This record gives sequence, C-alpha cells and structure tokens, in this order.
Amino acid sequence: MARRFEGGRLVIASHNTDKVREIADLLAPYGTDAVSAGALNLPEPEETGATFAENAIIKARAAAQESRLPALADDSGLCVHALDGRPGIYSARWAVNGDFGPAMEKVHTMLEAHADKSAHFMCALALCWPAGQCEVFEGRIDGVVVWPPRGDLGFGYDPIFRPEGRTITFGETPPEKKHAVSHRARAFAKLIGACFR
Ligand code: IMP
Repeated sequence: MARRFEGGRLVIASHNTDKVREIADLLAPYGTDAVSAGALNLPEPEETGATFAENAIIKARAAAQESRLPALADDSGLCVHALDGRPGIYSARWAVNGDFGPAMEKVHTMLEAHADKSAHFMCALALCWPAGQCEVFEGRIDGVVVWPPRGDLGFGYDPIFRPEGRTITFGETPPEKKHAVSHRARAFAKLIGACFR
C-alpha cells in the first residue's frame, strides 16, 4: 500500500518554472498548499541517477529533508527511439542557456538520416517524506518528432512532438488539453489514485 499524503504543505521540488506551473495546475483540484523549491530557496541537487525514477527520487528526497515537508519531484524527458532513447534523462541538458531551439535542432539533425521518427515523453514523479520514504509513479505518451517546430505553447520539446493520433504538436495544444493526455498527467493520475484519495 502506498503511503498517503495527508494534506497541508507540499513542496514542488523543481526550479523549472514551466514544470512548477504544470504540476500546480494538476494539483489544483486536491486542495494542497503547494510551494516551489525555488520559493523556499532550496538547493538544487545534482541529478546523478541513471533513470528518470532515480533522478526524481534524488530531487524529492533532498527537498523533503531540507524543508522537513513532503516533497514532489518530476523527472522527465523526450526519448527518441532511433536515437537509442536520447536525449532521455539528458533532455534539459541539451538546451543552451535554457534555450530549447538548439536542443530541438540537434534532435532533428541526428534524426534526419532515420525513417523512424517515433518517440515518447516519459515522466517519473516521486513523492518523498522527510524521513526518506518515497512513492514513485511513471507515465508515458507516444508520438513522433516533426520538423519544423510548431506552436509556442508548452515548453521544452513540445513544438516538435506530435502525440499519436493527433494532427497538432504539444506546442500547438492548449494546456488543459495537454494535461488530459500527457506523460505528466498519466503519472499524476497514478499518484493521485494511490496517495491522494
Ligand atoms: P528535468 O528537469 O531534468 O526533468 O528536465 C526535463 C526536460 O525534459 C525539460 O527541461 C524538457 O526539456 C523536457 N520535457 C519534460 N517534459 C516535457 C513536456 O511536457 N514537454 C516538453 N518537454 C518536456
């Protein structure tokens, strides 16, 4: 049985303002008092894990220990199948000074020679308590990489990712529609089912 979140303050263990906004949107119906790691001036731990789940635990555990509050972290990224899953856990690190233009260009250039443009977004969510206990949930959405980038909604690689069965990219998808299907929303549904009800 997963440990349940009993309400009250919850730290969103991320310094990525786009992610904090998406997570706050997804948490809104559950009446949690969410505060970001950035607002609490918590240090950002080094992401030394080999998987999304390991990195999510590193971030959530560090924030929970530092703040003495339960903390929720997201580690996520784009996995391109013809590129052996890259950029994967390195998705944020392919950006140049926070600019994802060069990162999307790099994916496109590496993928040009491949007929298979399939990819998926992965999200691991870790909810950790100050004593160190963690619950982890994963979500995934499959799609294809398109070029050129389309749309200026969302963040990161959204403009070059078109989910399976859709005609528009995540960059062209309004937030409420993205939240209905995204990797993050799917991981969230599992988290809510196990820890919030
Ligand atoms: P993290 O902070 O190390 O988990 O970085 C995850 C990175 O993956 C983000 O900076 C984005 O580049 C990418 N990413 C994760 N989720 C999404 C998404 O929903 N849309 C677009 N890019 C995403």
